[in-house]
Amino acid sequence: MNVEVSAASESLSRKGSAQTPAQQESSAAGPVIEVRGLRKTYDGTEAIAGIDLAVRAGEVFAFLGPNGAGKTTTVEILEGYRRRTGGEVCVLGADPAKAGRDWRARIGVVLQESEPEAELTVQECLSLYAGYYPRPRRVGETLELVGLADRRGARCGRLSGGQRRRLDVALALIGDPELIFLDEPTTGFDPAARQSAWQVIAGLRDLGKTVFLTTHYMEEAEYLADRIAVLAAGRIVAEGTAATLGGRDTEASIISFTLPPEVPAADLPPALTASVTITAGGQVEATTKSPLGLLGVLAEWAAARGVDLPDLDVHRPTLEDVYLQLTRVSR
Ligand code: ATP
Repeated sequence: MNVEVSAASESLSRKGSAQTPAQQESSAAGPVIEVRGLRKTYDGTEAIAGIDLAVRAGEVFAFLGPNGAGKTTTVEILEGYRRRTGGEVCVLGADPAKAGRDWRARIGVVLQESEPEAELTVQECLSLYAGYYPRPRRVGETLELVGLADRRGARCGRLSGGQRRRLDVALALIGDPELIFLDEPTTGFDPAARQSAWQVIAGLRDLGKTVFLTTHYMEEAEYLADRIAVLAAGRIVAEGTAATLGGRDTEASIISFTLPPEVPAADLPPALTASVTITAGGQVEATTKSPLGLLGVLAEWAAARGVDLPDLDVHRPTLEDVYLQLTRVSR
């Protein structure tokens, strides 16, 4: 695997890591994508109902939303493959609806499904595509980057699903684009393939590329994205980092445990009883915005009574919890 990718994979919490010189250079350049009041109607039905977006140079931006929310419509407008009904769109300094070949060479696209030439080898296919660009990446380097170096001689038509997807990514990268659109890049991947795809994408960010990612996997957005926008029914319903999206950082946590059979519920510490529900089976659930304080009280209480709480659990809202809440209310 390529050095750049391995370096990215070494940092598990990569979003918090310091910016590389390539990132610093590109983020100084300002927004790569700017969208104001974007609308799209199909036969009089509004699919995109006036959205605003700004994607900065050098960031991974994740675009989430349920089926039919309008993600593909938006992405294809940004890529210049679909006409908008209204609003302003600027991608790499140009309107995608009017931009020419030079502009297109600066963006890389990984579609949900692609049809590379089945009879060509992986290497031949990449070399062919490299010829379409003014300043392509080297084929060998690109194969290393996506983890396909050992399949360079295989016919494209004989690749597995996951390998095909890696080839799709390689084809999007061969022109050495500044901006890369990844539409559900890991759908159908096994867990190991997904992990290595994430490392490839993290490696792109570390090279200073801007990545616009659509995905249905919350853990993918959480691992990769610097910022996330959630689209529902053609409107942006939330935007932020994985930690703050939809007020996630200020949402209450749930402390749960099973009450030991010999302990009556009335004996629980008063600090806990204010926000507690207890099922007939003795399952206790306390909702709190300061779980640490409540855990302290609970630990002291349990130690004083000499009881253990073996299934004690603290559940903070996950990105998926927040996402489901956001998209449920707006359906
Ligand atoms: P998914 O997650 O399922 O890929 P999406 O968020 O990408 O969904 P879009 O494909 O953008 O959603 O579709 C948004 C809405 O626009 C849907 O109601 C869809 O039926 C409609 N739509 C998309 N393309 C067309 C088209 N060519 N003609 C008419 N309606 C369309």
